[in-house]
Amino acid sequence: MLSVTEAQAAIHAHVPLLTITQTGLRELTGSVLAESIFMERDQPPFQRVMMDGIAVRSSTTTRDFRIVGTQAAGAPPLSLTRDDECIEVMTGAELPVGCDCVIPVEQIKRSTDRAQPLESAVISKWLNVHRRGSDALRGQSILQPGVRLGVTEIAVLASAGYATAQVRQSPRIALVSTGDELVEPGDPIENWQIRRSNTYALRSALEQHGHRQIIDRHLADDLPVLRHTIDVLLQENDVLILSGGVSMGQFDYVPQVLTELGMQCILHKIEQRPGKPMWFGVRSDGKAVYALPGNPVSTLICLYRYVLPGLLRSMASSTLPVERITLQKAVKVHPELTVFMPIRLKHDDQVGMQTELCPTRGSGDFISLLGTQGFVELPPAQGMIDAGTLVPFYRW
Ligand code: AMP
Ligand code: MG
Repeated sequence: MLSVTEAQAAIHAHVPLLTITQTGLRELTGSVLAESIFMERDQPPFQRVMMDGIAVRSSTTTRDFRIVGTQAAGAPPLSLTRDDECIEVMTGAELPVGCDCVIPVEQIKRSTDRAQPLESAVISKWLNVHRRGSDALRGQSILQPGVRLGVTEIAVLASAGYATAQVRQSPRIALVSTGDELVEPGDPIENWQIRRSNTYALRSALEQHGHRQIIDRHLADDLPVLRHTIDVLLQENDVLILSGGVSMGQFDYVPQVLTELGMQCILHKIEQRPGKPMWFGVRSDGKAVYALPGNPVSTLICLYRYVLPGLLRSMASSTLPVERITLQKAVKVHPELTVFMPIRLKHDDQVGMQTELCPTRGSGDFISLLGTQGFVELPPAQGMIDAGTLVPFYRW
């Protein structure tokens, strides 16, 4: 059996990389960049006016200017030749040639063709001018492969002139629930049956993390059915996430079926609670299967702890987000198993953020997850972990 750290390392060492594709700017959110991005031009590309006002020469001695033109944004630059003249300028325009200072409109008194700076107005070199190349230079490498594209990266890509970018293909994910007891929400249900909730929770989590190509299926605990359908799903998807059927029960056929379909078992069982029976495997054609235990708390915790980081790895992401949080109270842990425990973050106006551990009544008790923001990872230890200890935190 592997420890949590060993299990994560085994997954990251074996996840197959997705292929690289050229993707349009509108579809890039959440993708991982597979090329370097270079600045198309200096940023800003010209001496950019930062305020609506008048442009003058800072060496001038007058405080009474004749207005000789209007410089709009998006127009080629005008020129100023005299110290006692000025040009009206708009934010975003190129600074007229011969000027090096902008006096904001709020700081001038103007008549039809004259502008007089108020006494308090400052005239100095490069005032209110966003200087060419001050933020980035043409040809500069601004984004590197492995960066996950979010709001700020997309803004930079667009401004660097990229209509498309090379990224790792988003994984096509199939969610598969197994179990004869499971009934679809909305369908009639008997007392001895259970609602099929896991795939809905998994889908919600995956979508929140930017994964959009998701299908879901339900399969009975039936060997031929499992074998046939999982085979087809493996042909049509990159990643399968199964829930249920990986424990020691008589009808837990999932590991056997996956091996029969040519999946190489990388790990089965992790020294953790909940989620001990988890299975992970890969196939030589680049398919990956995460088979999670069916208990709802186990399924969700395994998704956040292993699957989401594994998916990022398969997209060749260079960083994995890790948050840490300080325990406010000592907590009793397990001598051999890593314990994942839900936690509530409370924002207090006086003392700032407070945390409260919220143990569940077992891995079937997902009602207790309501009102929690995620879970902490408590490594194995004899006795207690002290208050004040920094531990990994996974946010729902
Ligand atoms: P298993 O891992 O198949 O032994 O399932 C363990 C427990 O989780 C059983 O009580 C199942 O009914 C429950 N379970 C399995 N899959 C789901 C699911 N998709 N939604 C809700 N509960 C499930
Ligand atoms: Mg089952």
